[in-house]
Amino acid sequence: MKIIDRLNEDRIHISFEVFPPKTDDGIERVLATTDEIAKLDPTFISVTYGAGGGTSKNTARIASHIKNDLHVLSLAHLTCASSTKDEVRGVIENLKNLGIENILALRGDIPPNMAFPDGDRFRYAWELVGEIRRHGNFCIGAACYPEGHVENEHKADDIRYLKQKVDCGVDFLTTQMFFDNDIHYNFLYRIREAGITVPVLPGIMPITSASQMKRSQELSGTVFPRRFLSILDRFGSSPEAMKQAGIAYATDQIIDLLANGVKNIHIYSMNKPEVAAAIISNISEIITC
Ligand SMILES: Cc1cc2nc3c(=O)[nH]c(=O)nc-3n(C[C@H](O)[C@H](O)[C@H](O)COP(=O)(O)OP(=O)(O)OC[C@H]3O[C@@H](n4cnc5c(N)ncnc54)[C@H](O)[C@@H]3O)c2cc1C
Repeated sequence: MKIIDRLNEDRIHISFEVFPPKTDDGIERVLATTDEIAKLDPTFISVTYGAGGGTSKNTARIASHIKNDLHVLSLAHLTCASSTKDEVRGVIENLKNLGIENILALRGDIPPNMAFPDGDRFRYAWELVGEIRRHGNFCIGAACYPEGHVENEHKADDIRYLKQKVDCGVDFLTTQMFFDNDIHYNFLYRIREAGITVPVLPGIMPITSASQMKRSQELSGTVFPRRFLSILDRFGSSPEAMKQAGIAYATDQIIDLLANGVKNIHIYSMNKPEVAAAIISNISEIITC
């Protein structure tokens, strides 16, 4: 089944994300994580794709486990910057053979010291979207950035390129993490005005430690509001307190989004099933109301 068909149902959808292990040794642990998350009845579980492309077989394996063993919809991420066009085509065919119907089409970060593109690579995600479309009847998701993509200082250009990407055949968008919902509401207004009508899944990252916050900021360049920084100042050095506060902050963001009519939420659960379960428990009545 395609994710877009589920998103079109008039109900609240919650999805989660896991990432593959860096080495094959960790695969069983990640599979066990997906088993736990599947018990929360998510709309889908997404599996990220290692930046260097080296863990691609594990992305496919985990996505296949989610779909074929757990019978939950899976979304396999696929990046194109670090692989040749033929390698990317090979991954798409493999996903097709495994019965995976949903792909998140991404450019990925440009590998350092690479003259990019080198002629044999897709340059932008919109080119990858077109390539996936040529390989079969996939449901295709793509990324968007409420605070703008770090490489593009002009937000209006970013939205123009986003529209171009969606028009190539994107069924839904997932946002980069953000910690101030007003930024998301403002972004939604601007992209709707630009004619982008596909569902947008806000990406919520529960920050459960000070080091995770630092990493998230480096990766996404996101702005942390004063309210979040106070939490970090006060509880950052106490792991259990920070975890509880981070889950509460993410829960609060989600409740505000749902209260404002958002129907689909994607949670960057980061291989922490207990965090995913705590959030679902916090909103158990809300999502059925
Ligand atoms: C939801 C989500 C999931 C992610 N999952 C992963 C993952 O699994 N693995 C991973 O390695 N990374 C992942 N990333 C990170 C992502 O790969 C990086 O942010 C990457 O730098 C951009 O990817 P993109 O698909 O958004 O690129 P694109 O949509 O191609 O955009 C990249 C940049 O190019 C600009 N641009 C686009 N089209 C044009 C054009 N025609 N002319 C000029 N400029 C243009 C855009 O404005 C932007 O600045 C994820 C990000 C998000 C938000």
